[in-house]
Amino acid sequence: MAAYEYETHNYDAIVVGAGGSGLRATLGLAEQGLRTACVTKVFPTRSHTVAAQGGIAASLGNMGPDNWQWHMYDTVKGSDWLGDTDAMEYLAREAPKAVYELEHYGVPFSRTEEGKIYQRPFGGHTTEFGEGPPVQRTCAAADRTGHAILHTLYGQSLKQKAEFYIEYFAIDLLMSDDGRCQGVVAWCLEDGSIHVFNAKMTVLATGGYGRAYFSATSAHTCTGDGGGMAARANLPLQDMEFVQFHPTGIYGAGCLITEGARGEGGYLTNSEGERFMERYAPTYKDLASRDVVSRCMTMEIREGRGVGKDKDHIHLHLNHLPKEALHERLPGISESAKIFAGVDVTKEPIPVLPTVHYNMGGIPTNYWGEVLSPTSADPDRIVPGLMAVGEAGCASVHGANRLGSNSLIDLVVFGRAAAIKAGEVVNPETAPAPVNAAQVDKALDRFDSLRYAKGSVPTAELRNEMQRAMQDDAAVFRTDETLAHGVEKMYDVAGKMDDLKVTDRSLIWNTDLMETLELTNLMPNALATIVSAEARKESRGAHAQEDYPDRDDENWRKHTLARVNGKVELDYRPVHLNPLIGHNEGGIDLDRIKPKARVY
Ligand SMILES: Cc1cc2nc3c(=O)[nH]c(=O)nc-3n(C[C@H](O)[C@H](O)[C@H](O)COP(=O)(O)OP(=O)(O)OC[C@H]3O[C@@H](n4cnc5c(N)ncnc54)[C@H](O)[C@@H]3O)c2cc1C
Repeated sequence: MAAYEYETHNYDAIVVGAGGSGLRATLGLAEQGLRTACVTKVFPTRSHTVAAQGGIAASLGNMGPDNWQWHMYDTVKGSDWLGDTDAMEYLAREAPKAVYELEHYGVPFSRTEEGKIYQRPFGGHTTEFGEGPPVQRTCAAADRTGHAILHTLYGQSLKQKAEFYIEYFAIDLLMSDDGRCQGVVAWCLEDGSIHVFNAKMTVLATGGYGRAYFSATSAHTCTGDGGGMAARANLPLQDMEFVQFHPTGIYGAGCLITEGARGEGGYLTNSEGERFMERYAPTYKDLASRDVVSRCMTMEIREGRGVGKDKDHIHLHLNHLPKEALHERLPGISESAKIFAGVDVTKEPIPVLPTVHYNMGGIPTNYWGEVLSPTSADPDRIVPGLMAVGEAGCASVHGANRLGSNSLIDLVVFGRAAAIKAGEVVNPETAPAPVNAAQVDKALDRFDSLRYAKGSVPTAELRNEMQRAMQDDAAVFRTDETLAHGVEKMYDVAGKMDDLKVTDRSLIWNTDLMETLELTNLMPNALATIVSAEARKESRGAHAQEDYPDRDDENWRKHTLARVNGKVELDYRPVHLNPLIGHNEGGIDLDRIKPKARVY
């Protein structure tokens, strides 16, 4: 057994992750007087949320009529009828409250002439239950909305005396013999010390796993660590086949050009200079939902109408927009286009390509953020002591496809909900039960075996193989053949994990070991994604299967559950169809959100 000394810390609640969801949960927990710690592998304000540009959706109605029922309808339709009705209702209904709270905490939103929060149009957000024109629902702080939110929430969390363990890497969950979560084991990257966080409630807020793919808009730190930890605790991952490709990653670099650019009037063209989105989505054109625009772009390229010398990308035009508007509303992306594509947006189009952007799937939860480990008798069985929020979780509000600006609102609505629920179930008066020492040993044994791994494949090499396999076979276009090939290839790649080679044995700022731990987390996420995708014989949202071009509600309107234990075992769970409040009490009219064809 590995001999590591460790320090034990006792808290009412710990949050793993300091992105928008982790900080909103941390703040909410601390505000209620719970002893709260936030453990994060990067400095809080370097979490990927800082890169969110376009904005945060809420039906404030500051720039024309809007209401939460319209927002809910758009989310249901965006999800391609795979989202849970209660969670989507909660999101749309609580969104305005959550945004005004952010405003009062100090988020510097852009303003309208009358001083209200500025809102811009975003893809898939409409009026009149999809019958009316696009709505201006996305609240923005220029094109740096995530940055503004993250800095504000960090400051507020410090004010509430939440404790931060910064540059601590959570290795594994600690589960009791009767299936309760008791906290995590973490490694301090700076001094190499090991820490056990014993908590009555553990909130996973570790973000997405975009880095399972070769080209992604997400930070290199988005390695699905929460999903990896959950998989090792034998908990399922839900709806992992649904991976969002953002239409406008900068060609070659992968960096994001926000959908807000099209919201402000930008449009796409092919090699013939044609605004092709008018053909595919006559009503909403360039502001159709992301899966639709990404697929149309891929189709144009496959049919030989891509731009550039290899005809392998598309042009995004902003050059017709007034210079002052670009300067005021989109300063960050003007700069990114200059740096990463060498383009002056006031004069030339930006070369763009669909790029992995968001993971709809994740650790299944209810709308309070409580993690679910479904059984056939109880599809909503809760794992005591464990919550998941943000991109790591799957509530599920995004279903098969997320609408732009619906993630930032998901972070704050469900980060806040998790804190409210924890306030109800955690008793600050009692001492936490001692942690399961056997689980600590098990986590440290795994850590030690990776630290001393002396196989023949360097981590970076295996990671590259995984990323290429996922990019080739689990991207925008999917067929029986590509997916079957991908599953075989991914099992082959995952099989090499036993032959990893780590060269640095130290404990201090050992990035080799950290990237290896991250690879052990990316791998179960990637496996669950491709195996779940291969099994789903229909097209829905981001999962466009060429051999089954239609959505099949009768057989497939259900959530996939993947348990990854060497092999991936699949199971399914019903979609929640009931709303929280009835139509008579001001709730949604269920007739309005009945499944129908999804056209924009
Ligand atoms: C470029 C870009 C632009 C976007 N723009 C928008 C937008 O305009 N609107 C919108 O709604 N959505 C947008 N999104 C999506 C949205 O920003 C993300 O889904 C969201 O920020 C994820 O937040 P999070 O709190 O789940 O995690 P993150 O912000 O990714 O944070 C994860 C946290 O977990 C910590 N962590 C992870 N693993 C460990 C570990 N093992 N140990 C300790 N700590 C760990 C990290 O340190 C970090 O603090 C954008 C995404 C990208 C990539």
